[in-house]
Amino acid sequence: QKPQPSDTAIAHSFTPKTIGRLAREVGLFSEEVEPYGTTRAKVRLEALNRLKTQPDGKYLVVTGITPTPLGEGTTTTTLGLAQALGAHLHVNSFACVRQPSRGSNFGVKGGAVGGGYSQVIPMEEVSLHLSSDTQAVMAASSLVVDTINARVLSESTQSDKALFDWLVPLRDGHRKFSLSQLNRLKRLGIEKPETLKPEEIYRFIRLDIDPETKTLSGSVASEMMAVLALSTSLGDMTRRLARMVVAYSRKGKPVTTEDLGISGVLATLMRDAVKPSLMQTMEGTPVFVHTCPLSDIAQGNSSILADQIALKLVGPEGFVVTEAEGGAELGMEKFFDIKCRSSGLHPDVVVMVASVPALKMHGGGPAVTAGSAMPKEYSAENLTLLENGCNHLKRQLENARAFGLPVVVAINTFSTDTDAELGLVCEQAKLAGALEAVPCSHWAEGGAGAVALGQAVQRAAETPHQMNFLYDLEGLGNLPICMSKTHLSLSHDPERKGVPTGFTLPIRDIHANLGAGFLYTLVGTTSVPPQSPAFSCFHDNDFSTESK
Ligand code: ADP
Ligand code: MG
Repeated sequence: QKPQPSDTAIAHSFTPKTIGRLAREVGLFSEEVEPYGTTRAKVRLEALNRLKTQPDGKYLVVTGITPTPLGEGTTTTTLGLAQALGAHLHVNSFACVRQPSRGSNFGVKGGAVGGGYSQVIPMEEVSLHLSSDTQAVMAASSLVVDTINARVLSESTQSDKALFDWLVPLRDGHRKFSLSQLNRLKRLGIEKPETLKPEEIYRFIRLDIDPETKTLSGSVASEMMAVLALSTSLGDMTRRLARMVVAYSRKGKPVTTEDLGISGVLATLMRDAVKPSLMQTMEGTPVFVHTCPLSDIAQGNSSILADQIALKLVGPEGFVVTEAEGGAELGMEKFFDIKCRSSGLHPDVVVMVASVPALKMHGGGPAVTAGSAMPKEYSAENLTLLENGCNHLKRQLENARAFGLPVVVAINTFSTDTDAELGLVCEQAKLAGALEAVPCSHWAEGGAGAVALGQAVQRAAETPHQMNFLYDLEGLGNLPICMSKTHLSLSHDPERKGVPTGFTLPIRDIHANLGAGFLYTLVGTTSVPPQSPAFSCFHDNDFSTESK
C-alpha cells in the first residue's frame, strides 16, 4: 500500500472555488460578504438579522477522548463529517472550527486545519494569518495597558486622587510594594516577589503591570478573545468589553475598561474581528473559521456568532458541525456549560472521536518519543491493550451522555487498525451507551469515508432528546466555571492516562473574567501562558521558497 502524501501536498493538489461563488452557494447576499483576497471573506452580522425568522439547522458538536501524541483527529473528523453530509449525502452542511492560534503553530502538530483529505484550504491562509482578528485583539489589549500606564504615571504626582497606586510600575529596575500588595502576595503563598518562578508569574498578571514587558496584556488579550468568541452581537460584545476588570484601585476596588473610559474605542477596534471568516474544505464544503480562545483558561471553542449564522444558512434540514477542542471533560463540558449558556443554542447530537492507537495508549501502551521508532504495540494488533483503553472511552462517554444527548462514536481509522480492533471498539462503545459507533476513513478518502458516520448522525438527530446543564448557576456569583486544567489527562496530572481515580483535584487559584462571563480555576500545574515545545511545527510551514 502506497503511503498517503503529506497534508501539505494534498492541500496543494486542490483548487478552491472563488469566495464569491461559495458565498452565493451558501445563500449570502453580496452586500453581506467582505472578501479578503479570492478565497476568504468576512461575513457581516446583518446576515443574521436578515435570517432571524429562519428556523435553525441541526447542531452537532464534535468532541473526543483525551488527546495523546498518537492523534485522535477531532478537527479532521469535524471536516470529514461536514464533507460527507454536504458533498455525498447532499444536505446543506457547514463546519465551524477555531482559528489556529499562534499557540497551535508553535505546537507539535501540523499548522493546518484538519488533515489528509479532510482539510480547510488554502492551508497557508488558514494556518498562519487568516485575518486581522488576532491583531485587533492585541491592539485592543495594548490600548488597555497603555491607558493604565499613562494613568499610573500622571497620577503618581497627585497622590490623594490616585486610582492606581495599587499597581506598582518598575522604577530604576526595582519594585516597591505597598503593604496591601505584600499581604496579597502572602495570601497567594509568594514570599519573595523578586525571585518569581515562571509558574508564579501568572499571579502577577492581575496584580501588577510591568511597563517594560506589559505583562498585563497577555491576560487581557486572553479575556478579550474569550469575549469575542462568546458575543452574540456587536452590542453584546461592547457590553462585555465594558465589564472587563483590568486593574484594581489602591483600595482594592475593581477597575473596568468603562471606568477607564475606553470601552467604546475597544469595541471600535474589534468591530471587524467579531465577523466570522468564511472558507471551504477541499471538497468545497463551507467552513467558518473564527476566534481562538485558549482551551484551558478560556472556553476553547470557536465563536457563537459563526455557529448562529451557519445554523440559519443551512436551514432546518441542514447540519452544522462544530468542534469542541480537547477531550469531553474539557472542551465539550465548556461548550455546554459556558458556550451554550451564552448562545441559548441546544445541540442535537454529540460526536465522540476515538482512534485505536490513542485508546491503546490509554490502555497502558508505552510512551512515544519524537525521533525514535513507533513501538510495535501501536502498529500491530493488540486487543488486550485496546480493551483496557476502552475503559477510558467509556468514561468519556459517561461525561458526554451526562448532558442528555445522543452520542455517536466516530472511530477515526489509522492504516494499522485491524478489523478485530475496530470491531472491539464498536462493541465496547455501544455497551457504554453510544447510540452507534462507526469506523470512518475521511483522512484517507475525504467525505466518502465518513458517509456511514453522516447517516448515523442523521438518525441520531431524529431521536427525542432533552439537553441539560451539569450544574445551575445559583451560589456561584451566577457565573459558570471554566476549569483550567491539562488536556492530557482526566485528572490534573498529564502523566495519568486511562481512567485515573482516587485523586484530589488541587485548585491553586480562582479568577473572575467578568467580561467573558466565567470564573476560571487554575488546577494543578497549569501554566499561563502555556509552555511551547522545543521543536515547533511552524518549521514545517515555510512555503516561502515554493513557487505556486
Ligand atoms: P485534533 O483536532 O484532535 O487535535 P487533528 O484533526 O488536528 O487533531 O489532527 C492532528 C494530526 O493528525 C493531523 O496532522 C492529521 O493529519 C493527523 N491525522 C488525523 N487523522 C489521521 C488518520 N486517520 N491517520 C493518520 N493521521 C491522521
Ligand atoms: Mg482540533
